Amino acid sequence: MGSKFAFECPDCGHSAVVSGGRDFGMMAVVQTMVCQDCKHLVDVLIGRFGEEGPTGDPDYDAQLGRCPDCEGRDVHLWKSEHPCPKCGVGMTRNSDLHMLWD
Ligand SMILES: [Zn+2]
Ligand SMILES: [Zn+2]
Repeated sequence: MGSKFAFECPDCGHSAVVSGGRDFGMMAVVQTMVCQDCKHLVDVLIGRFGEEGPTGDPDYDAQLGRCPDCEGRDVHLWKSEHPCPKCGVGMTRNSDLHMLWD
């Protein structure tokens, strides 16, 4: 079971609900990344069943390493400073708001 948290930029107010790092649920392994195409903070699928990398299932593998919002592949690891994808200011995690997924 994975969990997602609400992050918000104190400067421009941009917010996103993401894992905030590497996470995995029942099937999906995800990694929080910044999409350079749409400037969104997204949880990108990176594997399945706890393993990173291609699964051998072409339908599933087609989704790996892609922004779920715009399907772009220009996604980059979200740094530990949690920079806002819009303005670069460190985003803060709202610990009151999170959800579980699997
Ligand atoms: Zn910002
Ligand atoms: Zn995108």
